[in-house]
Amino acid sequence: MSTADVIVIGGGIAGISAAAELATSARVVVLEAEDQLGYHTSGRSMAMFILNYGNATLRALNAVAQPVFLEPEGISDRSLLSPRGELMLATEDELDALEKELGQSTGLERVTAAEAARMVPILRPEPIAAAYYEATAQDIDVDRMLQGYTRLLRARGGDIRTKARVVNMARAGGIWQVETPTGPVSAPVVINAAGAWADHVAGLAGAAPCGVTPMRRSVAVIPPPEGHEIDKWPLFGSVSETWYAKSESGRLLVSPADEDPVEAHDAWADDMVLAEGLHRYEQAVTVPVTRVERSWAGLRSFAPDRTPVVGFDAETEGFFWLAGQGGYGVQTAPALSKLTAALVIGHPPAIDPKTIAALSPARFNSNQKG
Ligand SMILES: Cc1cc2nc3c(=O)[nH]c(=O)nc-3n(C[C@H](O)[C@H](O)[C@H](O)COP(=O)(O)OP(=O)(O)OC[C@H]3O[C@@H](n4cnc5c(N)ncnc54)[C@H](O)[C@@H]3O)c2cc1C
Repeated sequence: MSTADVIVIGGGIAGISAAAELATSARVVVLEAEDQLGYHTSGRSMAMFILNYGNATLRALNAVAQPVFLEPEGISDRSLLSPRGELMLATEDELDALEKELGQSTGLERVTAAEAARMVPILRPEPIAAAYYEATAQDIDVDRMLQGYTRLLRARGGDIRTKARVVNMARAGGIWQVETPTGPVSAPVVINAAGAWADHVAGLAGAAPCGVTPMRRSVAVIPPPEGHEIDKWPLFGSVSETWYAKSESGRLLVSPADEDPVEAHDAWADDMVLAEGLHRYEQAVTVPVTRVERSWAGLRSFAPDRTPVVGFDAETEGFFWLAGQGGYGVQTAPALSKLTAALVIGHPPAIDPKTIAALSPARFNSNQKG
């Protein structure tokens, strides 16, 4: 039987970054079901950092995370971000959504259809009623980030076990005993960083679910439009998130921005969903899609209020939630990992109390009681 101070269930960006932060003052073991880290959602994202993305709680987390991305001390020797920009387009019908976004955000620049088409020359100006550009939106080097946190965790004495799916958990005498095919591990605290499987893992611990629902999001990889230098194009899409596109390694990634609730599984893209999304993309551009080179899908997992669930379970002792990061889990990981370490170790968190309260799993317990 191995023992630790903290067991982290899940080796995605959430689990690995939290484990690395905790390992300064605790003996940490990460248990990952797959044979590699980041195999599920963390390896399938669009890799963007967007300061103005998500609700007020998420924006508070984005702001805390930004300096870590820029100076990722111990994680990498240089910034994890690189310039991209984000161009959001509105048709006449989407003008209200555009105004709302402009009203609640900072640093957005309103641009005309002609200006938008200069930034991304395949855009058809006619359907664009207005647009905005967010210059501070950046690419995240997710591989370097995950590898950096993994190295940091190991350097701090942390233990990572792959092919170690947690199949059972029991608590006795203030200690969790966690069963995996690679053997049991025990610790007083378990962190649930199981992504799409968060509610399932809560069930293993006998904790009530928080309603964390996996939602599929797909991506099609298409050849670059001929005659265009696409590398420097901003991410571009509809302001009401019905499709978006981004260049990567000389190809265009187009997402239908789907959000279909599904069971937790090894996700793949649905052909019909891709076709419908590519059709919406084609309405906005002058170059038709001739070929899809490959596609993938990942599961963005949301709590009912679309805010992450972070904190100790109110009723199940020693069970900590780090789940429901939705479409923001990479960009909020530096903030949520530090918060997790502070709450587990009992240090004062560097995040304001209002944000911490908004993240607390207790909000669902009180809902159930009320
Ligand atoms: C198409 C797409 C685009 C996205 N774009 C962005 C973006 O631009 N910016 C951004 O910040 N976010 C983005 N996201 C969201 C982001 O990828 C996620 O929020 C983030 O990766 C979640 O990380 P995680 O560690 O919680 O989940 P995961 O990476 O899924 O990790 C959870 C891990 O838990 C493991 N696990 C589950 N059950 C068990 C068990 N019983 N025992 C052991 N291990 C278990 C799983 O195998 C998995 O590896 C995007 C997502 C998608 C799909």
